[in-house]
Amino acid sequence: MAVSLARMPQAARSEDRTVAPADVQRRGLMLVLSSPSGAGKTTISRALLERDDNLVMSISVTTRPMRPGETNNKDYRFISTEEYNRMVERNELLEHARVFENFYGTPRAPVLSALGRGRDVLFDIDWQGTQQLKNNARDDLVSVFVLPPSTKELERRLRARGQDSDAVVAARMEKAADEMSHWPEYDYIIVNRDIDTSVRSVQSILAAERLRQKRQQGLADFVNRLREGV
Ligand code: 5GP
Repeated sequence: MAVSLARMPQAARSEDRTVAPADVQRRGLMLVLSSPSGAGKTTISRALLERDDNLVMSISVTTRPMRPGETNNKDYRFISTEEYNRMVERNELLEHARVFENFYGTPRAPVLSALGRGRDVLFDIDWQGTQQLKNNARDDLVSVFVLPPSTKELERRLRARGQDSDAVVAARMEKAADEMSHWPEYDYIIVNRDIDTSVRSVQSILAAERLRQKRQQGLADFVNRLREGV
């Protein structure tokens, strides 16, 4: 799918605490977390959002039914297949894919708006969506794949949720193997043995990626002034 991010604003945030000089501003980045269901990605995402004021979640649309405990417009925007098709036709989705038997997509406008306000955006999307973003916004994308520590633990976590039937759990275990084959397409790989350690790992990735030379705008002027002693 052709996704154009050509008009995406270059984000800048003068109050960013990871950059010392106020006149060196930073481009926002898109942080993607992918994993098979049950590897802990949702828990990691929630903890990251709690600990990082500059990070906002991209809320996907989906045609799948709402699960117990989920909230519309918070976990997902739950929409009909007709509405999904309309959004695809109108090019309102930054990426979209069929995952299992349902459709998912990332609404374009909220992401562009957040990046324009200098925020970093967190995406919980699968490998297909990640590839689409990579093809269209490589420089702004940081991708992390979360692996479960073992197959046994993955199955235990899927069952512990108690939300899906045996048939759904079995199907997802099967799909997990496929999903995991995409790990080499990601920038960073985390084996989620312990949530807190995994969250700290993603925070370290985020801290380093925010300091990348290409993301800090105005550095040349800043260094020139340093050299001139101004
Ligand atoms: P679940 O139905 O369990 O919430 O999610 C199933 C899978 O769909 C997960 O791997 C999740 O990352 C992926 N997913 C959720 N939202 C999107 C989206 O907007 N785009 C894509 N490509 N995948 C998504």
